Amino acid sequence: MIKLASRIHTIKPSPTLAITAKANALRAEGRDVIGFGAGEPDFDTPDHIKMAAVKALENGFTKYTPVCGIVELKDAIIAKLFRDSQLTYKRSEIVVSCGAKHALYNLTQVLFEEGDEVLIPSPYWVSYPDMVLLSGAKPVVLETTGAQGFKILAEQLKTAITARTKAIIMNSPSNPAGAVYTAAELAALAKVLVGKEILIISDDIYEKILYDGRLFANIASINEELRKRTIVVNGVSKTYAMTGWRIGYTAGPEAIIAAATKLQSQNTSNPTSIAQMAAVEALNGNQDSIGVMVAEFERRRNVIVEMLNSIPGITCMLPHGAFYVFPDVSSLFGRSHDGGVISNSSDFASYLLDAADVAVIPGVDFGNDNHIRLSYATSLKNIEEGLKRINSAVKRLS
Ligand code: PMP
Repeated sequence: MIKLASRIHTIKPSPTLAITAKANALRAEGRDVIGFGAGEPDFDTPDHIKMAAVKALENGFTKYTPVCGIVELKDAIIAKLFRDSQLTYKRSEIVVSCGAKHALYNLTQVLFEEGDEVLIPSPYWVSYPDMVLLSGAKPVVLETTGAQGFKILAEQLKTAITARTKAIIMNSPSNPAGAVYTAAELAALAKVLVGKEILIISDDIYEKILYDGRLFANIASINEELRKRTIVVNGVSKTYAMTGWRIGYTAGPEAIIAAATKLQSQNTSNPTSIAQMAAVEALNGNQDSIGVMVAEFERRRNVIVEMLNSIPGITCMLPHGAFYVFPDVSSLFGRSHDGGVISNSSDFASYLLDAADVAVIPGVDFGNDNHIRLSYATSLKNIEEGLKRINSAVKRLS
């Protein structure tokens, strides 16, 4: 019997990736599964970005680069952060990693340890608590409800802070709820955080995916004192449909960036050379593809929200960002089908996969067991067919 290190038992596999894998396995068996699990745009990476990688390949740009990323990419990131958020950084305050997930993992490893508490507003992205657990620190979940737009309130933040609070992880627009904090809401939270030695990790990965005229705001641009304690994490995965390229980045205090770079030098080394070149083009080149993608997401969001709300027992808030909906399915709890009773979000997700060939993610994985998450980064045709199937599966419940 092989004995694994105890640290690996503190975490679970990423549920979103696990459900996507299960849906793929069922498809391989010949079942026509419609997947609402994937957290990635279904668009192709724009051609001009792909061509930058091709050019890099042709030029033989296929060797190790500096661990923290090439200067051209750091400069493109610096220009982007100034252009979009009026934040100024030096090259020594930027590290490029293998996706925002890797950037966040590095941060949790260099910043947190046993005895620390890390505040995580719920519903949260599935990986935050597990990354915090791997660091030895304690995730402290701040619950939110649909009624408060799935956003934490200043009062709530105040009560959650203890002498052990080391950081808070903010994510707006959020995965899974699509919640978008306004500048005023962030300013209210900033007021609570001022004067305290709490770091703010701002995961801005969905920054460009906004609807209904909502504007992106980062707590670092709202308060100068907090800017010094804010670590911005972002990447090209979602904005430029580049999930497979694995380029993310961190901008923040030099000491933290140096530590993350040191850690990275002992695990991945640099992110892929040609992907870095593609990311330079993504950030510096033509930005038109974003608007096209967001307009399409908005059309789909409107359809999926309307169809969900037309199913008796399901209610769905209109999200203002990202590409997920997070409907409340708790009124269906207690209803039964051939295979048993639906008591929670996992039961409902399993029922939909077994009885309707539809893959969704149970809300419990995001910290809220009354909901499920559906990604609408899939075609309108799939959305319409998938929602018809959900509707009929719900009607079959007794
Ligand atoms: N943060 C959030 C909130 C996400 O949803 C994701 C992707 N699902 C990531 C970070 C990681 O993105 P990537 O590693 O592809 O850059």
